[in-house]
Amino acid sequence: MDTCKLKPFCRFFKRKIPIHDVMYRTDLNRYCDGIPQTCAIYQVMEKAGFLEVPDDLLPNQSFRVQKILGGIHRTYAAKV
Ligand code: SF4
Repeated sequence: MDTCKLKPFCRFFKRKIPIHDVMYRTDLNRYCDGIPQTCAIYQVMEKAGFLEVPDDLLPNQSFRVQKILGGIHRTYAAKV
């Protein structure tokens, strides 16, 4: 169990993403005060910065992480 170091920068933690109270508390326990490294938002923030986190990304959506990071890398490559 751990507490997430990214809480001050996280839209989900600050409740800026609409979500049911029960789901919020469940994800808080599972990710923010549990195992943050398994959180989708954490993974994108760690690898690409908080500006690259989609507004609607939820902690349990790790299936979206590779696509988000892949899109960022393609954008960078196109600019070089
Ligand atoms: S674990 Fe995920 S949702 Fe929770 S504060 Fe960290 S980045 Fe945000």
